[in-house]
Amino acid sequence: METLDDLSPQHAASISTEALRLMTDLSIPVIPSNFTVWFAYVLGRSPALRKTIDILCSNKRAFDKPLNRELYSTFLRSNSLLHAGQNINEELGVILRNVRHDLSGAIQANGVQSTGLKQVEATLHAKDSELALKQLSRELVLATERASSLEGKLAEASHELDKLRADLEQAEATSKTDALTGLANRRALESFLRSEQIRVMEQGESLSVFLIDVDHFKKFNDKYGHQIGDQVLRLVAQCIQQAIRDADFAARYGGEELICVLPGAPIATCKDVAERVRKRIADARLTKRATGEHVGQVTVSIGATEFIPGESYEALFERCDKALYQAKQAGRNCTMLL
Ligand code: GH3
Ligand code: MG
Ligand code: MG
Repeated sequence: METLDDLSPQHAASISTEALRLMTDLSIPVIPSNFTVWFAYVLGRSPALRKTIDILCSNKRAFDKPLNRELYSTFLRSNSLLHAGQNINEELGVILRNVRHDLSGAIQANGVQSTGLKQVEATLHAKDSELALKQLSRELVLATERASSLEGKLAEASHELDKLRADLEQAEATSKTDALTGLANRRALESFLRSEQIRVMEQGESLSVFLIDVDHFKKFNDKYGHQIGDQVLRLVAQCIQQAIRDADFAARYGGEELICVLPGAPIATCKDVAERVRKRIADARLTKRATGEHVGQVTVSIGATEFIPGESYEALFERCDKALYQAKQAGRNCTMLL
């Protein structure tokens, strides 16, 4: 949020009062993040936030917890100091940079010290000074060597931290991915779609979704076995990925149901993409990897729909699911729109 230094206390108080009144009317819990959103809404300096909330209100959309959270993170969190450095990767990055900085400083300092001590030792030897002094100098050299070894260990620790960071990134990716198909999982889908819904409302763009379900998959599994069934799901995922653009999002919605979100696409475009996927799957020739045996054709039914600004994630899916049901009713291997 931009600076509020120019707000007089009276103006701020009247904005707060109005924000609280709206929050009470809409049954929005008065917690700091929600209050920040509604204060900014009443203040009216963000046209995008105003537009989005106005659409949500005109649609009588309930301001539930996920929606409130999404509004806050879309419009306010990125600028809030409260959340700076919350991302674990960012934090690790900072730690790593600090450790490296300290380490290289220490190594440099140690190098200088070591050279200095060796020079002192050489001088002492040359002048055949007293034994005690030589011993002292020897001790110092040993101490420096020990410090060097410690630095080596620190460098190793820094390397371990690098590895930990990579592992965390991997774990994060895994937690968002469906292991069988390699597509996003339902959790990742939900989070993507919730933020895209807000974004397209803010920017006045369309967004469409299509849901794919394999036809008579139970029979297929019974006939050819679950493993070949799994191979079919991978094939369907592959056909989807080949048909969509980078900005589109494909996920495994459930067992044999896959879903695609097309930000920016009106329903007509969505239908074209869905049909491309459907035909690609119907045309694919499936063979058993081990024997090369032909295992027949697989078809899918598809339900597609366009996001209505302001509607909930659940309402969008329900309509998509209904469209899919109609496709099954219409004889399968087709795309229906709702
Ligand atoms: P419909 O055309 O009406 O969709 O018929 P269907 O047989 O595909 O639908 P139904 O819902 O009766 O059965 C879904 C089947 O999908 C049952 C289940 O064995 C199969 N399935 C779900 N998840 C997986 C999976 O991960 N791997 C395999 N191989 N099969 C799965
Ligand atoms: Mg199904
Ligand atoms: Mg099915």
